[in-house]
Amino acid sequence: MKIKCAWMYHDIMDLYGDKGNIMTLSKRAQARGIDFEVDTIGIGQEADLCQYDLCFMGGGADKEQVALIPDLLKRKDNIHQAIAQNTFFFLICGGYQLFGQYYETVDHQKIEGVQVGSYYSLTGKDKSRCIGNVVCDANLDGIHLRLVGFENHGGQTMNVEHPLGRVIQGNGNAFDAGMEGYYDGHILGTYLHGPLLPKNGELADFVLVKALQKRHPEFTLQDLAPMDNPWQAPARKAILDRYQLNDQPE
Ligand code: GLN
Repeated sequence: MKIKCAWMYHDIMDLYGDKGNIMTLSKRAQARGIDFEVDTIGIGQEADLCQYDLCFMGGGADKEQVALIPDLLKRKDNIHQAIAQNTFFFLICGGYQLFGQYYETVDHQKIEGVQVGSYYSLTGKDKSRCIGNVVCDANLDGIHLRLVGFENHGGQTMNVEHPLGRVIQGNGNAFDAGMEGYYDGHILGTYLHGPLLPKNGELADFVLVKALQKRHPEFTLQDLAPMDNPWQAPARKAILDRYQLNDQPE
């Protein structure tokens, strides 16, 4: 079996180790005998996203978001087609924001997004930013996971119809939003960096399964052999202990 992954704007959208998400997906796929083929897609590079099982975009500063948006908007129809054909989109922070209706930069420049979700992002009041560790309890098609990550964003995301989960520690979509990220079955957007997936192996496996289901709709999480990651538990514990939280979702 094989997963074809498009890594969008790999060269400019990569904050707080976001590229570690690709390394984690690749490692966890290969450990189960699944090929993980990655094509990087930069500004101006032709690509048909419908050909991919998974598209990934990391986070970036406003400067990078403004630089890539004309290119991303040219791909808008292709992105909507790919979603309709079950390509799974996994988006972090700045990438997540650009898939909404619009994003307002810290200089109050309003940039149109690719509008897959009805959410939109305003800038924080007086240049304020949500910064720090986040613990959130996610519900992914009935699979409950306690996610651990790190946020640093000015953008305040509103009108999120399908939040990824409930915030236990930190801010999430906006200051004291109570909710974090977006998940609608086709797109998973989150403010969590970290990188996210090395600390949340169950989420990495969920993303792999969603990607595999494009070509193998019958494939489920139970079809992935269990995989141990000896670094995950201590990395999570270091954060969870700070807030007297346990490892299980509520
Ligand atoms: N530039 C965006 C913001 O500040 C995204 C930042 C990020 O990806 N961490 O909200």
